[in-house]
Amino acid sequence: MTEQRRPPIRVEVSHDHCMGVSMCTQAAPRAFRLNEHGQAVYQGGGTASLAELHAAAASCPMSAIKVIEEE
Ligand code: SF4
Repeated sequence: MTEQRRPPIRVEVSHDHCMGVSMCTQAAPRAFRLNEHGQAVYQGGGTASLAELHAAAASCPMSAIKVIEEE
């Protein structure tokens, strides 16, 4: 079986925009958690799929999440 590898990505969460609505933690719980200020932080580690990350970014009502695919 061939393992599908995720391309290198960078995820940014703007804490100027995050209001802690928590849609991202529901869309991609392996990738985002809320910090002690109630704002989302990306946990990295590569366990979430690219589709989950894009779903989380799309779910954010504040457009606070950017998923950048790097070469
Ligand atoms: S969905 Fe957006 S506003 Fe809500 S916690 Fe995640 S990044 Fe913040």
